[in-house]
Amino acid sequence: MLVVMRHGAAETEIQAVIEEIEDMGYEARPMPGKQRTTVGLMGNDGRVDSARIQGLPGVSEVIPVTKAYKQVSREWRDADTIVELKNGIQFGGTEVPIIAGPCGVESEEQILDSAIQLKNMGASLLRGGAFKPRTSPYSWQGLGLEGLKMLTKAKEETGLAIVTEALDPDGVDLVAEYADIVQVGARNMQNYPLLRRAGKCGKPILLKRGLSATLTELLLAAEYLLAEGNNDVILCERGVRSFDPHTRNLLDLTAIPMVKSLSHLPIIADPSHGTGVRDKVIPMARAAVAAGADGLIIEVHPDPPRALSDGAQSLYPNQFGELMDQIRVIANAIGRSVK
Ligand code: PEP
Ligand code: MN
Repeated sequence: MLVVMRHGAAETEIQAVIEEIEDMGYEARPMPGKQRTTVGLMGNDGRVDSARIQGLPGVSEVIPVTKAYKQVSREWRDADTIVELKNGIQFGGTEVPIIAGPCGVESEEQILDSAIQLKNMGASLLRGGAFKPRTSPYSWQGLGLEGLKMLTKAKEETGLAIVTEALDPDGVDLVAEYADIVQVGARNMQNYPLLRRAGKCGKPILLKRGLSATLTELLLAAEYLLAEGNNDVILCERGVRSFDPHTRNLLDLTAIPMVKSLSHLPIIADPSHGTGVRDKVIPMARAAVAAGADGLIIEVHPDPPRALSDGAQSLYPNQFGELMDQIRVIANAIGRSVK
């Protein structure tokens, strides 16, 4: 429930609303706005009787938040959330930032080579897992802390912001020290202890849709992050499990406009994991920008056949360059821009 105060409502009137909400056993979250203050009622798991609040002085209206997720919903906040990084890159505005890089950080040479080429072709952020969530315990698991240090080196060389994954609650703070955006992967979308820690880590979070997660489940997972006070959340459509083995996953492009109507949070697309097939990544990346994605995350490797993970879906650098030229045109056609 959202309590909208009248324009110019007195501080004492706002305070009275807060006290009433607390008296009812809920948490009040005052949100001062340019025009007027709203007070969110948190902690309810069902309908709340608004009559006690409706009649208080200074209250303009009480809006029920009908969705299970509250703070991430459009009902809670009408304006698009813009997640802005320290270097000024914005997700959720007119810009469409492109995150690119290998699936995993494999060596200093590999990540530096990737970063320099990608920077020259217009990528804004560098991706690369140091802690890899692998389906098989016998697959390569990433370089860990050494990988994080290599990412930092690549950032120092190129200025590219870093996106990298945290696998478990205890690892979040370490990853957050090195990352500009902490990724929570598909397999961990419903790892609630991890989400709670990520919500407190002080860095923006890239939250990927779970392998078979509904959009409601995705938005409720995001709600965990906002409930811990982290509003800088970027959602990611990365494909869901399908009945058809031709592609690794089924990239659900409808999720992009659908999430945008349900939530104010930015949503980007991952056509690499979404298709799993190198030559299908490019058309689906184009389609995702056309569908209104607020960014892309794309796997690119300097030598895909030798990649230690996800080589089959990794673009060659020259393919990424061609894709950048194409998505610039598509973004312009819908009033947006790609660097
Ligand atoms: C990744 O980004 O390399 C990754 C493991 O993605 P996902 O969690 O979407 O499978
Ligand atoms: Mn990958």
